[in-house]
Amino acid sequence: MHIERVLCRVCLQRLATEGFLTCEECSARVVGALDDIVRIYPDVEWDAHHPPRSADQVRGRPVYKSTPPINLDQLDRAHRLAELDVLGCLAWWAGHVRDSTGLAPNATTTVAGEIGVLVRMWSWIRRQSAVDELARDVVVLRAALQRMAGETRGRIRLGRCPAR
Ligand SMILES: [Zn+2]
Repeated sequence: MHIERVLCRVCLQRLATEGFLTCEECSARVVGALDDIVRIYPDVEWDAHHPPRSADQVRGRPVYKSTPPINLDQLDRAHRLAELDVLGCLAWWAGHVRDSTGLAPNATTTVAGEIGVLVRMWSWIRRQSAVDELARDVVVLRAALQRMAGETRGRIRLGRCPAR
């Protein structure tokens, strides 16, 4: 029996794995990006909603005697994170997967929970034609979160190269 192998829908360069619409490399890349988002998101979210850990605070110097001034940098970060809508995007995809496969919804909607659905159903997702769009969304989300996490590292001076 002849099974036709198609071009990977994500990279459009390698042949897709037999029975799937993506190659192994792209498959591993998307799952890796999902793992990264689960890992990075809590820190970026926490940081976007809490005052910066400045050098002054680290040294224990009293910084504010009354109400602290509005931290524009922090507002901007919270705004950018809201714009990114990580949870909305992941929940939208996980919702589609649930609707199509009859999977029961999670009790609560969280980034880790929605990613859990996408990872668990990944071999099903790899056979759907929309896998390229999901892959694109996931890679964009990871890149944006990594950028924000990088700014955090730069701000609290852990000695990472700021150009990265
Ligand atoms: Zn590929």
